[in-house]
Amino acid sequence: MMKDLIIEKKNIVIVSHKNPDGDAIGSSLALLHYLNKIGIEAKVVLPDEFPEFYNWMYGSDAIVIAEKSWKVASDLIDNADLIFCLDFNDLHRVGNLQEKIRESDAVKIMIDHHQHPKDFADHMISRVDSCSTAQLIYEFIESNNDRDLIDATIAEGIYTGIITDSGSFKYSNVESKTHLIAAHLIEVGLDHTKIHENIYDQNYLSRLHLMGYALNKIELVKNIPVAFIALSIKELNKFNFSKGATEGLVNYCLSIKGVQIAAFIREDHGIVKMSFRSKGDVKVNEFASKYFEGGGHINAAGGKSTLPFNDVVEKFKKNIIEYLA
Ligand code: 5GP
Ligand code: MN
Repeated sequence: MMKDLIIEKKNIVIVSHKNPDGDAIGSSLALLHYLNKIGIEAKVVLPDEFPEFYNWMYGSDAIVIAEKSWKVASDLIDNADLIFCLDFNDLHRVGNLQEKIRESDAVKIMIDHHQHPKDFADHMISRVDSCSTAQLIYEFIESNNDRDLIDATIAEGIYTGIITDSGSFKYSNVESKTHLIAAHLIEVGLDHTKIHENIYDQNYLSRLHLMGYALNKIELVKNIPVAFIALSIKELNKFNFSKGATEGLVNYCLSIKGVQIAAFIREDHGIVKMSFRSKGDVKVNEFASKYFEGGGHINAAGGKSTLPFNDVVEKFKKNIIEYLA
């Protein structure tokens, strides 16, 4: 049982990936609260800031953000005897923390659902057909015979991870088990309506205006089922862009009748970030890894480029035509 491995540890750190999403934060906090429940202290460390609309989550105020508190974060990793790596399977995904974690003598346990896991952990719980890491945290707790310890606080993190990674139970990797988990979470007191409201109904007007502007800019690529939106820093700044504000835009591109591949291209400082989505068996993780140093899942992936913004947009159009040829 994995529990035997964690029970005697003194300095446990839970790490998740850059640009943390609901599954990164949800699975980390759910695991933290579970460890606390069995009498173990732990700290959550994230490489950079999470979107503000997750700040209602219990325990989110104690998350250490490495980009802001580098000394605290690196001391935690240096002193760790156990590191949980959640919702990523390649150390590149943790930015500046990667060297620290690679060199650490701590026992490393990876829990993740992305394809092609890299071999850096001592123990790997990798299930690529799972809808979320949060579901794997539930199953991890279950495998320790501690299902009965799951309370409303642990449930909050698990549910947040599941809904944000599964499009609220929509994607094909949702199993009957996922719904059974949700049923159990509601039984232990989870307020699912509150969670949906907290995540999806905290919009600023400026964000909706940004969405409106972006939707107006959707482009279809000629002769192939591809739609995309590209936004420069200048455009984003007009709408007081903050982290997470463009989440979901790529799905509007994918929602167009006949479109099978969608992309959202966003200029950041010194880098261009890209989100890819697809329907059916078009593998956007393969596309992302082939052309944009990225990866992810078959139907949801991401990548990046250091080329100038306009060049990235042109490169994307060229590459996607080539990829589909
Ligand atoms: P999103 O578009 O929501 O940022 O990311 C979609 C999926 O792609 C997530 O599962 C995320 O882990 C993965 N992903 C996003 N960006 C990158 C990247 O730069 N590299 C890799 N390997 N995966 C990424
Ligand atoms: Mn995930």
